[in-house]
Amino acid sequence: MRGLMMDVPLTLASLLERARRYFPQVEVVSRRPDGTISRAKYGAICRRVHRLADALQQAGLARGDRVATLMWSHAAHLEAYFAIPLSGGIVHPLNPRLHPSEIAYIARHAGDRFLLVDDVLWPLYERFSNQVSLERVWVHSLGGAPVPAGIERYESLLSSGAEDFVFSPLDENDAAGMFFTSGTTGRPKGVVYSHRSQVLHSMALCMADTLAISHSDAVLLVAPMYHVNGWGFPYSCVMAGAKLVLPGAGCGPEDLLDLIEGEGVTIACAVPTVWFGALEALRKNPGGWKFRGPVRLLVGGAAPPASLIRELDRFGLRILHAWGMTETSPLATMGRLKVHMQPWNDERKYEVRSKQGFAAPLIDLRLMRPEGEVPWDGATPGELEVRGPWVASSYYNAPEAATRWTDDGWFRTGDVATIDPEGYVKLVDRTKDLIKSGGEWISSVDLENALMEHPAVREAAVIAVPHPKWQERPLAVVVLREGASADPEQFRVFLADRFAEWQIPDGFVFAKEIPRTSVGKFLKSALREQYRDWSPPAPDMRKKR
Ligand code: ADP
Repeated sequence: MRGLMMDVPLTLASLLERARRYFPQVEVVSRRPDGTISRAKYGAICRRVHRLADALQQAGLARGDRVATLMWSHAAHLEAYFAIPLSGGIVHPLNPRLHPSEIAYIARHAGDRFLLVDDVLWPLYERFSNQVSLERVWVHSLGGAPVPAGIERYESLLSSGAEDFVFSPLDENDAAGMFFTSGTTGRPKGVVYSHRSQVLHSMALCMADTLAISHSDAVLLVAPMYHVNGWGFPYSCVMAGAKLVLPGAGCGPEDLLDLIEGEGVTIACAVPTVWFGALEALRKNPGGWKFRGPVRLLVGGAAPPASLIRELDRFGLRILHAWGMTETSPLATMGRLKVHMQPWNDERKYEVRSKQGFAAPLIDLRLMRPEGEVPWDGATPGELEVRGPWVASSYYNAPEAATRWTDDGWFRTGDVATIDPEGYVKLVDRTKDLIKSGGEWISSVDLENALMEHPAVREAAVIAVPHPKWQERPLAVVVLREGASADPEQFRVFLADRFAEWQIPDGFVFAKEIPRTSVGKFLKSALREQYRDWSPPAPDMRKKR
């Protein structure tokens, strides 16, 4: 017998209509690049979404057309996030931090037909406009930046649409959004989310044991809306009726802390780099900000070291560690403590919280090696594989990458991890960053996290350098805290407590900063290139230890 329940398509329309009906007064706060703030309410935004969807259809948008955005995070970008898919198109945010030729490659590969661009990003658009073939471009006024006469305006596009426009019925499996992987491991590839996957992912973010986003929250989306589906927040916040705070470009650590204080933020999300900056600001000015209550910080994209989690706790900023990727929408695991762990001592609890956590509901994980599945013993590493209703089943138009999926339907993440008997994932490395010394793997992530516990260290990245005998050896690139000094021997002694002799880096070099990707992750490929010819100290010197 089949179930006798309604088969209502899961589309973004129901998320939007819920906000319009129940939360019209809830605010979306946008910070412009010049630091000024503008406020809009869900009620008005929803009406504008109807108008924009109508206007896009009148402009010729057909089912499945890609509409790119080149925008910072603000209310108009949120309108585009909804209106484009609800008019039958696919919203495709472009990353303005990439090189213009790379943006052009992505736009061409996606087959973008239309573009919405912030006036302040117009000069960037001009640097690649001749490499793409967009039919229409509309400019959104954000910073009053000059734009050549005759260019169509976002507000006039909107005014051609009707507020009472009725969205056409959509299939829940229709494409809704397209995002490209940030390309830390090769050419960017397109991931295509469906209405259904976006709705289910939004529900997952709102569940009590994940992030518990609710109407009572004010959410600061530090992660930009052009990165990994805006981490799912634009949709989950609208669904929950949560206040949304959108910092645009040029928002420094102090500005973020001001927003958390001033807007009564309860949840904020960003990569660890951002929180390192916030921590420095808080250390310099410990009484500088008064938060309304504890703030949940969703941290992902890279691993926050236990030291960062511990230090931020002192200021009422509680890191929730999550793991995901563009291909997983992104939420896949969440590092919450289980109830029986609450009485544990701090040391053990921080150890758990610095792991990436266990799978969100509906997400399945397994660890694989060529010889088969790896046990969840917390010690044996394997490649993490994932599947679930918001995990990509292939890339857009990239048949050469089909090997990322197994024959039995799992996605090979390229991340190497252990999973403990409680189910907590601990990322050891990316397959590309693994250090293979004499046939043994060394985890760069473990070494980095340990080094970042050292009081003199602001940041550290560990990379593999070629070695004649061991094939590869670890080298640590260390950024010291302002005013701190240290020498390599101190670091060796510091690490010797926790690591075997052969795992300790052969060298510690100092740098002013670690090169980063467009979204703030360590760019280890650049470091490997820079230190390719680095050679270890002479053996007799090292024996003295
Ligand atoms: P790219 O794969 O191009 O970097 P993504 O932005 O999708 O693009 O990044 C996903 C990757 O980021 C993951 O595969 C993983 O290596 C890394 N990552 C995500 N979350 C975490 C985390 N909590 N800890 C460590 N690494 C993480």
